Amino acid sequence: MIIYIDRAHIKNKRVLLRVDFNVSMKGNRITDDERIRSTLPTISKLLKDHNKLIIVSHLGRPEGWDENLRLSPIAKRLRKYLPHVNVTVVDDFLSDGAKKLFDEQKEGEILLLENIRFYKGEEENDKEFAEKLASLADIYVNDAFGVSHRECASITGVPKFLPHFGGLLMEREVETIGHALRHPAHPFTAIIGGAKVSTKLKLLFRLTEISDYLVLGGGLANTLLFALGYPVGKSLCEKDCVDDVKKIVRHAKEKHTKILLPRDVVVGSKEGTDSEVKKISEVSAHEMILDIGPEAQADYAKAILASKTLIWNGPVGYMENPEYARGTDFLYYTISQNKGLVSIVGGGDTLAAISKKEYLDTITHISTGGGAMLEYIENGTLPGIEALKS
Ligand code: ADP
Ligand code: MG
Repeated sequence: MIIYIDRAHIKNKRVLLRVDFNVSMKGNRITDDERIRSTLPTISKLLKDHNKLIIVSHLGRPEGWDENLRLSPIAKRLRKYLPHVNVTVVDDFLSDGAKKLFDEQKEGEILLLENIRFYKGEEENDKEFAEKLASLADIYVNDAFGVSHRECASITGVPKFLPHFGGLLMEREVETIGHALRHPAHPFTAIIGGAKVSTKLKLLFRLTEISDYLVLGGGLANTLLFALGYPVGKSLCEKDCVDDVKKIVRHAKEKHTKILLPRDVVVGSKEGTDSEVKKISEVSAHEMILDIGPEAQADYAKAILASKTLIWNGPVGYMENPEYARGTDFLYYTISQNKGLVSIVGGGDTLAAISKKEYLDTITHISTGGGAMLEYIENGTLPGIEALKS
């Protein structure tokens, strides 16, 4: 069982808090700070209880020390949200200079360690490195659901050395997604889109076991269409996955899960100047499928509106071009119209497709984890979650 911080009495302690501040950036500018905002409840609760916070996060995929991936823009954003709190970035927590910062840390002051992936020990899940991190604090709190599918030092290493707890965001993610998977109200629909089927085979297999409708779109659906004998022309299609997707189709039949594939599609070039709607049997050799068609929209809407639980990952079209974002937009607005629906949405590109839209509050839960959410659905747990169990 995981103990979350709202049920643990953590007071006057040094807390090492792992968060996922891996926000989207354009150069030095944060383009979406949802991941920062969603950890504020945990930070505020721990500060209110007179704890000294040492916050750990990674940003991007640095290879060694990388000036462009320092956490200073994040510290700045944190100061904006916590105007009464002193936020200091610790340049290298292993250095002698840093020792003074830790010794003199005051109550209500946050020390933010520099990008933890600057250290090799993090991703190597090095035991000694984890021990050094752990030695900074009395207590470990993980609020980084979005990274908890990774076995790295700050996720699975540190809790071996410290009393460990889950943060409030972790609690919300695990409870909402976990509940939807274990006790879904039926009909339960999963919409899976995105580019490649190869990265989502295990997920699809698992979903055929638990959902009533498995609604497919995007590049991923092309491989299924191809496997069922439809022409896909020049579309994104992974022919080496044909055997696997056939297995998924068979498994769905056995489990009485209805797979929905588009009956019509939008074909054209990525530039979008020549798009047209075609039946799936009429796609010609030089054409590329880039969105679901209007008839497919209607089919999918029927499933969405009949559902009580829904999980969605992956845009159903090449949404980077608005010409092919219509299917994805349509699904989003249909989901937001079903008032009794428990809806869970996750994935980097999926969130990018919807995050600036109206009615976001109609979505029950927008997960901060992309890969983590998918792995959680596949396996029912994550390494970082297991590490919090006592
Ligand atoms: P998420 O990040 O939400 O998990 P994915 O990364 O799996 O989603 O998929 C998103 C990508 O899939 C987008 O870049 C989108 O352009 C692409 N995509 C969706 N449909 C198609 C298609 N028909 N052809 C090519 N790419 C597609
Ligand atoms: Mg993506």
